Amino acid sequence: LASREMVPEGRKVTVQNVTFGGEKLVMIAGPCAVENEEQITKAALGVKAAGAQMLRGGAYKPRTSPYAFQGLEDEGYRLLRKAADAAGLLCVSEVVDAQDLTAAGKYCDMIQVGARNMQNFRLLREIGRSGLPVLLKNGIACTIEEWLDAAEYILSEGNQNVVLCERGIRTFETATRNTLDVSAVPVVKERSSLPIIVDPSHAAGKRSLVTPLAMAGIAAGADGIIVEVHPDPKVAMSDAAQQLTLPNFEEFMGKCRKVAAAA
Ligand code: PEP
Ligand code: MN
Repeated sequence: LASREMVPEGRKVTVQNVTFGGEKLVMIAGPCAVENEEQITKAALGVKAAGAQMLRGGAYKPRTSPYAFQGLEDEGYRLLRKAADAAGLLCVSEVVDAQDLTAAGKYCDMIQVGARNMQNFRLLREIGRSGLPVLLKNGIACTIEEWLDAAEYILSEGNQNVVLCERGIRTFETATRNTLDVSAVPVVKERSSLPIIVDPSHAAGKRSLVTPLAMAGIAAGADGIIVEVHPDPKVAMSDAAQQLTLPNFEEFMGKCRKVAAAA
């Protein structure tokens, strides 16, 4: 179902007033995690003013260490929704367990499956049955074929609203947190009908590298970008080194628009 032959012109995924795979790039921005009402509201108003269409913010954080901040859970979804509504944005947040799908669906316009859960097949099937629009990230050590098979789990349950997100893969390189696989964008376009966006933040791991990676993704044909933006990254409870400030994000949007216009 995910293959290009099934839908040669490519699929469009529409979430309310936002379309992935259409003419316009979809820009999703917001903090790594929802931390409190003031933080997420500031982020929402700021990214909206700079031109984002959707707000991101983790409520259930899949952290490498069990001692790191794990997110505000359902309260995070609720605060994300409130901030998105205040700013006039749609919102997306991660689900790490099928038991949280009901809460996520109540508060979020789109749900995210993170890199660590790309092959959580029970979760993928449940999301397929839910029909909720989903952003499916690639696993750090998965092939593109495995990623498309993961998408197939969702599609085969009757949910066609799948958008892929390239977020970097693990390689021998240590200068970046992950290596952004820019080639995944044209490969996915060739083999699959699904829209694909790029996450330069989790690939870079470092603020200064986020903008050039996003520009590369857009030049390669991505349908949008999801980027981490925090009103005060130095006090961020997760991913402090890679989150853009609001002024950074304004500049970032200008550069992304230039590449999109030239592409
Ligand atoms: C995220 O986007 O919040 C996240 C945890 O990303 P990833 O699953 O790509 O590591
Ligand atoms: Mn993060």
